Amino acid sequence: MQIIPLPAFRDNYIWLLRDASRAVVVDPGDAAPVLRYLAAEGLTLEAILITHHHADHVGGVAELLAHASVPVYGPAREDIPGMTDPVSEGCTVSVLGTAFRVLDIPGHTAGHVGYYGADTLFCGDTLFAAGCGRIFEGTPAQLFASLEKLAALPGDTQVYCTHEYTLSNLAFAAAVEPDNTAVRERLAHSQVQRDEGRPTVPFRLAGEMDSNPFLRSREPAVIRQSESRTGRALERPVDVFATLREWKNSF
Ligand SMILES: [Zn+2]
Repeated sequence: MQIIPLPAFRDNYIWLLRDASRAVVVDPGDAAPVLRYLAAEGLTLEAILITHHHADHVGGVAELLAHASVPVYGPAREDIPGMTDPVSEGCTVSVLGTAFRVLDIPGHTAGHVGYYGADTLFCGDTLFAAGCGRIFEGTPAQLFASLEKLAALPGDTQVYCTHEYTLSNLAFAAAVEPDNTAVRERLAHSQVQRDEGRPTVPFRLAGEMDSNPFLRSREPAVIRQSESRTGRALERPVDVFATLREWKNSF
């Protein structure tokens, strides 16, 4: 199984899983790049996987279904156009011979799910390289718990998020932890990747522990910096996380 990024809109990635003849897409916000790729490569679409209901993740589903009648897996707790197979934590989705476990990871939206299998994670807008999604429908506690759930997956997991936000996330990470060398090195490396027109996604989960401030709310330097924002003591990691998330909204 190969995984191909199909850039869409300004900074989205539609992920296309393929073998020699078949393909599966994750979060097709736009049908056009998917249809172009399928035609160019002579592939048959087999299934669509959806992580959450935002338009830039589901906008292409109807048009893809007009070309191929395929199962659409998506979060049971959200309204997904064309959804045939609502899924939630504990479900397994098998595509192209690979079984993906469904994870409930609410916070960005109320019913957001992720798909994990074969050391590969599709996590939509929950975890980004050196960052995380905005809290639109959930609470900071929900998104924090979802990120902790993802962080507990094996370090070798390759993370396929759906936006190229890495450079701006690392700029924020550097503001949170000016002395963190892992952040500085990752910023330099990611800048080279972007200058060469390459995606910074996927990325290895283990690297997040060193350079993603949203997974570092137990680090003394991150706690201190968050407390200096709020002007009061932050007792719990989730309070540090909530402070960081709010700070990032206006960064
Ligand atoms: Zn979203």
